[in-house]
Amino acid sequence: MSTQQNKTVGWIGLGNMGAPLAARLVEAGYPTAVWNRTASKADPLAAKGATVAATIRELGAQDVVFSMVSTSADLEQVMLDPELGLLTGDSVPAIVVDCSTVSVETSRKVREAAEARNVRFFAAPVSGNGKVVAAGKLSVVCSGDEGTFELVRPMIESFGRSVTYVGDGEAARLVKIYHNLLLGIYTQALAEILVLGQKSGVKREAVMEFINNSVMGCIFSQYKTPAMVNLDFHPTFTPVLLRKDFDLGLTEARKHEVPMPITNLTRDIVESSIGHGFAKDDFATMLLVAAANAGIELTSENADVTDGLDVE
Ligand code: NAP
Repeated sequence: MSTQQNKTVGWIGLGNMGAPLAARLVEAGYPTAVWNRTASKADPLAAKGATVAATIRELGAQDVVFSMVSTSADLEQVMLDPELGLLTGDSVPAIVVDCSTVSVETSRKVREAAEARNVRFFAAPVSGNGKVVAAGKLSVVCSGDEGTFELVRPMIESFGRSVTYVGDGEAARLVKIYHNLLLGIYTQALAEILVLGQKSGVKREAVMEFINNSVMGCIFSQYKTPAMVNLDFHPTFTPVLLRKDFDLGLTEARKHEVPMPITNLTRDIVESSIGHGFAKDDFATMLLVAAANAGIELTSENADVTDGLDVE
């Protein structure tokens, strides 16, 4: 493989997360080739200097190929499909790094297929949305061979503010999935107290401002403030993808016989937000479901609130 500065990079999947992450690599100076199933989504990357591959397999010529697709089945398709897959082509990269949130089983299956082709496979799922990436505040959790980590670490560090290595194999998948259970539960808790505030005469802006200034506040509560106060539900992460993560987490819970009553309930609340017609909106629409359950309809407070994601 070439030196770090000259390593060439491939990217599969330019959705809400993949596009800004690939852009970070381009901006860090890596010669980057990108592919997306819906070809038009590659245009903004091409404008930034990436080359656009016509097929996934063209990326086999790159040193390191990253992937960021929706589900376990999608990762298996882009990697293992006999006609189209990266790892079933004639030419394969030295390293594949997958950033999607997928199951341990799929991760292991793809790792084994990669290793059978002498390709190192590294798991690097992430926490944060596309705007968090743009603001340089993304967190990455990684697992796999430590030597591979050292090779790809500068690339992964270009994604954001923290990289946490948690060990061999698929450990990062579990950490990421469990993190998203907390994400859903935290969001539901916020939704409930905001609706309670509303019904008891307290503005959502006031509740969120105090939480953000308190020990209970965090980067997440701050960046969801425009959604919670002004009902800005432009999708950063959909309830369909969050439901997938709850299902992945609850599969582990059942496997290990760990009762998770709040997690089970929240999973169904996420599902009910899909039933309410919010499948393509942001998952923060859980607020609207909580309001509907309380028999009220929310309106925007049109308040001057910030997501706190100033670009660094
Ligand atoms: P998204 O906006 O829906 O994008 C999904 C991407 O995967 C698109 O590029 C899509 O291509 C591609 N894709 C899906 N199925 C495919 C298939 N069978 N073959 C080829 N390409 C396929 O989703 P996202 O929000 O970026 O999420 C991607 C992953 O990151 C998910 O695992 C999610 O759980 C995780 N994640 C998301 C966030 C977030 O805040 N959004 C944060 C952390 C982690 P098309 O454009 O053609 O549809």
